[in-house]
Amino acid sequence: MKKNQINGIIFDLDGTLYLGDAALPGAPKVCSELRRQGMRLIFVSNKPLDGREAYAAKLTRLGIPATPDEVITSAHVLGLHLKHTSPALRLYVIGEENTRAELSRHGLIVLDERLDQDPREVIDPRGIDAVVVAFDRTLDYRKLNTAYQALMQGAHFYATNADKTCPMPGGAIPDAGATIQALETITGRKVELIAGKPSGLILKQASETLGLPPDRCMMVGDRIETDICMGVEAGMHTALVLTGVTRREEIEESGVQPEFVLETLSDLLDVI
Ligand SMILES: [Mg+2]
Repeated sequence: MKKNQINGIIFDLDGTLYLGDAALPGAPKVCSELRRQGMRLIFVSNKPLDGREAYAAKLTRLGIPATPDEVITSAHVLGLHLKHTSPALRLYVIGEENTRAELSRHGLIVLDERLDQDPREVIDPRGIDAVVVAFDRTLDYRKLNTAYQALMQGAHFYATNADKTCPMPGGAIPDAGATIQALETITGRKVELIAGKPSGLILKQASETLGLPPDRCMMVGDRIETDICMGVEAGMHTALVLTGVTRREEIEESGVQPEFVLETLSDLLDVI
C-alpha cells in the first residue's frame, strides 16, 4: 500500500491503545509517529461512563496527547445525529449525567429527570417523543415504567450503544444492551437506532470529523465483530490488533476479513 492512500486513522481505545489504565506497549510512540507523518487521528468509544474531555485527558495522561475534538463517543454521535435529523424531539433519557449533558449540549430537549424522581410528578409519557437508552447505574422501576409507557404510546426508541455489559476492573457490569433488551421484551418493539459501534453512524461521524472520504481512513481495533466489521462496511481500510478481545484463530470463523492483522500496534507503522 502506498503511504499517501491513508490520511486518517480511527482508533478504538480499550484493547487497542490501552488496557484498563495502562497504555499498550508502543501505543504512544505509534500515535506520535503517525502525527509526525501528518496523519489525522480520531479516537472512538462506545463506553458511556465518561465524556469526550475525560477520554482526551486519559489518553494524554497515558502518553497519547489528544483533544476532546478528536474523541467520538456513542452519546456524542447520537446527539449530532438527532440534532441534524429531528432536533425538536422531547427526549426521555435512561442514562447518567454525562449522557444527558452530551445530548443537551447539542441543543436537544432532554426532559427533566428530577420530575421523574418525585412520585407525585411522574413525567407524562404522552409528552415524550423519543426514549433514549444509555448506560445508567441509577436505573430503577420508575424509569423503566416511564420508558415502557412512552414506547407503548408510539415514542421513538433510540440507544447510545447496545453493549450488554461494560468491562470494569474486577468484572463486567450491566450496560445499555441489558436495558434495551428489557424494553424490547416488554413492548414487543425493536430499538430503531443505535448510535455506537457497530452502527455505521459512528464511523460516518468519524470520517466527517476527519474531513476525509472513508477510503482514505483506516479503522484500527481489537474486536473483529464490531471494530473491523463496521470499518469494512464503511469502506475503510482496517487493521485488527491482537492485543485485546479477538484471537487470531477467531478471525476465520467471524466471516470478516481485516486488511491487516497486527500482533501489536507497533506493527501498524510497517503497513501504512
Ligand atoms: Mg476495544
